[in-house]
Amino acid sequence: MITIKSQRELDLMRKAGYIVARAHQRIQELIAPGITTKELNKAAEEVILNLGGIPSFKGVPNPYGGVDFPASICASVNHEVIHGIPNDIPLKEGDIVSIDIGAIYNGYHGDAARTYEVGAVSPEAKRLITVTRESFFKGIEMAREGKRIRDISRAIQQYVEENGYSVVRDFVGHGIGTEMHEEPQIPNFVTRERGPRLQKGMTLAIEPMVNEGHWAVDVLSNKWTVVTKDGKLSAHYENTVAVTENEPEILTE
Ligand code: MG
Repeated sequence: MITIKSQRELDLMRKAGYIVARAHQRIQELIAPGITTKELNKAAEEVILNLGGIPSFKGVPNPYGGVDFPASICASVNHEVIHGIPNDIPLKEGDIVSIDIGAIYNGYHGDAARTYEVGAVSPEAKRLITVTRESFFKGIEMAREGKRIRDISRAIQQYVEENGYSVVRDFVGHGIGTEMHEEPQIPNFVTRERGPRLQKGMTLAIEPMVNEGHWAVDVLSNKWTVVTKDGKLSAHYENTVAVTENEPEILTE
């Protein structure tokens, strides 16, 4: 079932989104060669807690039967796509790192991801990050009353592939509200499903995951970290978005 949010619920989601945005702002301030993803995790967690939020990723059960997710952010470096576990390895100049952050405020979720540059990165890495961000904005352009989920999927896929990259198939965007993952699924590629028609009050986490090479991925033996099979780079860009009667509203910036 797809939930339609009331004005009161949207206000709570704006607050959750604000908390996530502030945590990202802190990451942006701190990110530099030498810092570890564990340190970034601690900083983001402090922001979330100080603003009255609950980190929503911590303790998420493992879909493959491994340990629950142990941190408040996912930190995925270079060829890691999503669900990287923060660790003690210092980031290096030229790395790219995808940081995904989720927070709950009064029972409502916000969820957003960005790929950050560590110091100076290669022009190839920079272009991948830019195209990934731009593909989100192509997608959100379709997040309007009367459009369908597939219109979002198509816009993202076309833009990504036009630019010579591929979209991850194994993981998709999602509805969001009192649960982090609600219906509908929002693939970043066209499937046989048209998907439901969009209505005012739907809230969606639109999140292109874009690979430099092939879309195929593997899961590491920690049963969390998803990596590109070909070892090439991957980038991620996500916002929580509300469908309104006018322009779509981004709740996490
Ligand atoms: Mg998400």
